[in-house]
Amino acid sequence: MTDLYPNSIDGIAAARAEILTRIAKAAKQAGRSADAIDLVAVSKVQPDDRIDAMLATGQRIFGENRVQEAQGRWSDRREACPDLQLHLIGPLQTNKAEDACALFDVIETLDREKLAGALVKAMEKTGRTPRLYVQVNTGDEPQKAGLTVGECVAFVKHCQSDLGLQIEGLMCIPPVEEPAAPHFALLAKLAARAGLEKLSMGMSSDFELGVRLGATSVRVGSALFGERVKA
Ligand SMILES: *Cc1c(COP(=O)(O)O)cnc(C)c1O
Repeated sequence: MTDLYPNSIDGIAAARAEILTRIAKAAKQAGRSADAIDLVAVSKVQPDDRIDAMLATGQRIFGENRVQEAQGRWSDRREACPDLQLHLIGPLQTNKAEDACALFDVIETLDREKLAGALVKAMEKTGRTPRLYVQVNTGDEPQKAGLTVGECVAFVKHCQSDLGLQIEGLMCIPPVEEPAAPHFALLAKLAARAGLEKLSMGMSSDFELGVRLGATSVRVGSALFGERVKA
């Protein structure tokens, strides 16, 4: 078994090398190039020493699910590391849209009309234009964020034509108790229908499946850093 708490630089580097190898293998099986797949290292809740160890491996793409937590973790590191790419992968409140635009390079959780409007304003105000993904609630789960499957394509078109937002791709988080494959396949189909090429799908437990079904980025936390330890 691998170390669940890879605190040393070696442990972190080995975990990352293993994930990259598994991504490359899954890509090859699917006849895809591994270069077409970004590894987003999900650093939420992780302590500073693990973050710095991950940076030392050369990893530059990180995912966070809360704006405020990400500001604390990345504001200074971002200055020291200009090629950093930060992805917001958690729900965004409209009153945090400006902070999110100021910090993040990619916002993966555009999931409603009101937020689209807030992002238009926030981009004008901050002069920054993070790349955007529309989140789709592929399981049509009542409490989960994301556009319904039925609304998704029209929402993408609306953002593009009426609001002038550039949408880069789609993102989903399948229901935990269901096999992920049909959800990933559905997301790929919706993206094709919307004319989008990027797909953010797959986490620690199912990123290889995501890659086989067309993911262009996978969001991996615990398999890279070890289990999240609550403070
Ligand atoms: C936490 C989180 C992940 C990473 O989860 P792991 O199972 O630790 O890989 C991926 N995506 C989202 C949206 C998350 O909130």
